[in-house]
Amino acid sequence: MYLKSLTLKGFKSFASSTTLQLEPGITCIVGPNGSGKSNVVDALAWVMGEQGAKSLRGGKMEDVIFAGTAGRPPLGRAEVQLTIDNSDGALPIEYAEVTIARTMFRNGGSEYAINGQTCRLLDVQELLSDSGIGREMHVIVGQGQLDQILRATPEERRGFIEEAAGVLKHRKRKEKALRKLDSTEANLHRLNDLLVEIR
Ligand code: ATP
Repeated sequence: MYLKSLTLKGFKSFASSTTLQLEPGITCIVGPNGSGKSNVVDALAWVMGEQGAKSLRGGKMEDVIFAGTAGRPPLGRAEVQLTIDNSDGALPIEYAEVTIARTMFRNGGSEYAINGQTCRLLDVQELLSDSGIGREMHVIVGQGQLDQILRATPEERRGFIEEAAGVLKHRKRKEKALRKLDSTEANLHRLNDLLVEIR
């Protein structure tokens, strides 16, 4: 499995559709200060489901949409597509190539798709969660982040290790199951009350 290509359109400084073809092995992106190198990394995190504006170096989520320049008006939406080579079957999906897409509109709405099929953020997260990549997998180490990891409390450090070990997916499923259990118990209580009233 490797990242095959990344297409950005209306994402941060990439107003026009721009595709980066990646090869297996190491890829280096070089360019002058402010030319958009970090924006490419932001696009990677974003398409994999990043929800924090701060992690994307912005104030609000809509800041990822091209804001316009002197010669070009702002755009109404940002789109990123990430194509992953899955010929080794590392991702739990029956395709040798998987394209994850995310689109965001100025009203804040986000849409996700896997191989052209509209899906939920959860589907993207689950697809990536056993692969070692994904939003909270610490595969993207940003500027200054090493320092943050070195300064982390033991609890925070445990969180990093849990995420790297793939526990996160199960923790999320557990939280979801517990919420369902709570609402079912509330329903049962309500039912008992009704039964008492009827008798
Ligand atoms: P450095 O080498 O200094 O870290 P860099 O190549 O990583 O720089 P980026 O931080 O990726 O550069 O890009 C910064 C540029 O992106 C700035 O010029 C900024 O104005 C532009 N930019 C960020 N968000 C938007 C947006 N929503 N619309 C238009 N331009 C944007």
